Amino acid sequence: MKVAVPREIEQGERRVALVPDTARMLVAAGLQVGVETRAGAAAFIDDDAYDKAGAKIASRAGELLRDADAVLKVQAPREPEISLLRKGAVLISFLQPATQADTVRSLASHGITAFSLELLPRISRAQSMDALSSQASAAGYKAVLMAADRIGKLFPMMMTAAGTVAPTRVLVMGAGVAGLQAIATARRLGAVVSAYDVRPAVKEEVESLGATFIELPLQSQEGEGGYAREQSEEFLQKQRELIGEHIAKSDVVITTAAVPGRRAPLLVTGDMVRGMRPGSIIVDLAAETGGNVELTQPGREIDVGGVTILGTRNVPSTMPLTTSQLYARNVANLLLHLVKNGAISLDFQDEITRGACVTHAGEIVNERAKQMVSAA
Ligand code: NAD
Repeated sequence: MKVAVPREIEQGERRVALVPDTARMLVAAGLQVGVETRAGAAAFIDDDAYDKAGAKIASRAGELLRDADAVLKVQAPREPEISLLRKGAVLISFLQPATQADTVRSLASHGITAFSLELLPRISRAQSMDALSSQASAAGYKAVLMAADRIGKLFPMMMTAAGTVAPTRVLVMGAGVAGLQAIATARRLGAVVSAYDVRPAVKEEVESLGATFIELPLQSQEGEGGYAREQSEEFLQKQRELIGEHIAKSDVVITTAAVPGRRAPLLVTGDMVRGMRPGSIIVDLAAETGGNVELTQPGREIDVGGVTILGTRNVPSTMPLTTSQLYARNVANLLLHLVKNGAISLDFQDEITRGACVTHAGEIVNERAKQMVSAA
């Protein structure tokens, strides 16, 4: 069975879907691994390291993709890549079915069996394949460093002969995987941290990290599978009114709120930003799915009366060495889950296979993906 890893073509994507250690793991499982030359270059991994791990280096993606049984990618493939894939090949990557309806339709019409990491069921058995979590965790960590780098003050309280320095106050909105890692990182840097989430279940986790959980007098909201559900505009309006005073008191606000398959909820209005002290920093990790902050511009850093809003896209790609390593492990685990006796063997009775598979045998086979594609 041939596994292909092309170089990512999406602008700004520095991650690679397989690193030498995981290539070695697949080779040990009896698979033939092909990697496009310089596929790992932006993640500081040279061809030689893949070669030593037992992978074959191909000079062109075309050579690899045409006869691959399985293709591993980070970003959804683009049209030129899709048309190179063999009918019946398995593809594992982030596919963003909620916003990439055309890609999903094209994968179906080309007869590709595509797995979307966004749709992987979040059950304990699938934790080692959960790329959303591994990448979100890295993004939450980095968001704090980005804020610390730009803010004109120290994070920890410091008592010096020249006087006492007050600690930085960090507010984290959305205490899921990214938010919890942001809280832990900000605490390690010595900040005073508070956090808010619509799911009251996270209160204990937030407090165990040494942060204060902000409870708003609003009806608790939890959807399926531990996720938040989409809130009404009336709820969000009330939420913004109540959270406003906490935002005004913060030096750093990190927003990570998301609802699967939906636009990110609007948590911070322009007026709320203007109510913050000059020098404050907002990092909007939801920038790519619409932003939690009204004024966020995806991919840009903007100044609003002295308050900086960072709308950095693809934060995991800024730490490609670690995020590729984690991602590769997630992807290799999912691939090996689909392989029996050295060949792809799909069992659609299995919750992981059924849940993450988006297209198969010419059709969109996943109910969640069907809904996303028709809503897009
Ligand atoms: P996510 O990225 O979809 O959302 C991030 C956070 O934003 C969530 O905590 C959500 O409640 C919050 N949010 C949504 N709307 C909001 C609003 N209006 N105001 C404030 N906060 C809002 O979620 P995620 O981080 O990928 O995962 C969320 C949860 O899923 C985890 O904390 C965990 O409970 C569960 N999970 C389970 C597994 C597993 O069992 N394998 C793996 C990963 C996650």
